[in-house]
Amino acid sequence: QPITTDMETLTKEVQKFARDKKLEIETLKIREEYRREFLGNISHELKTPLFTVQGYLLTLLDGAMEDKTIRKKYLQRADKGVERLIYIVKDLDMITKLETGDIHLEVSRFDIVEVVQNVFDLLEMKASKKKITLSFDAKYAKPIWVLADQEKIQQVVTNLVVNSIKYGNEGGTTEVGIEDLVNDRLIVRVTDNGEGIKKQYIGRLFERFYRVDKSGARSEGGSGLGLAIVKHIIEGHNEKIYVESQFGVGSEFSFTLEKTE
Ligand code: ADP
Repeated sequence: QPITTDMETLTKEVQKFARDKKLEIETLKIREEYRREFLGNISHELKTPLFTVQGYLLTLLDGAMEDKTIRKKYLQRADKGVERLIYIVKDLDMITKLETGDIHLEVSRFDIVEVVQNVFDLLEMKASKKKITLSFDAKYAKPIWVLADQEKIQQVVTNLVVNSIKYGNEGGTTEVGIEDLVNDRLIVRVTDNGEGIKKQYIGRLFERFYRVDKSGARSEGGSGLGLAIVKHIIEGHNEKIYVESQFGVGSEFSFTLEKTE
């Protein structure tokens, strides 16, 4: 009978509507929680350098300005704090774009050896402050052509080498190596003989804002976003990222790329 059928259909539709709404609300709740956590992390990350900058400026205003050498020193430290803030904001911008898929890869053919050399040139000063040697095996000193987004791969190599310096020991070495794999792939390895990472932490390294040693890492600067950015970029290329580490011995981060003629 048409009326009963209609009632049945109606009931089913109402039930389906209710289920869909419930699902929608659950999704919104999860998204809201994620947003809140993200915002909480951001303000936390920004607080430390902001207070540092404010501290130096207040001390200057309190009279430290009178002494020429102290003035210069404190202004330089305040400037360092601002520089750190800029890095954090840049990383936040990058991770937001990567996570929302609001970024596209500009794939071209380029020489990965040259990219490594660029990164070394940019980070030589930073490394020398800790007497860390940046080494690239001479047998790779020829063009090695790959297909990828050059700027983003340079960012990946930069983040990995920066970490090897930050978590490396005084007088240590960071070595970059490139090896052929099967299926037109190659692997880029960034190896250090630094502090290493305990097994139980390795699984979480690539989460955004995750840090093994909160206090120690903070004194080294950074945003806790470096490896999250690396992972997004490499996986965005459909490539793989690996980490091997031994606490007290050193770490090796490696990723694959597509090679070409
Ligand atoms: P951060 O800004 O803290 O360096 P990252 O995402 O780059 O953030 O790294 C996350 C954490 O992984 C670091 O805080 C550090 O504890 C650990 N880590 C990363 N690279 C290395 C490394 N080469 N040696 C030892 N620990 C590392």
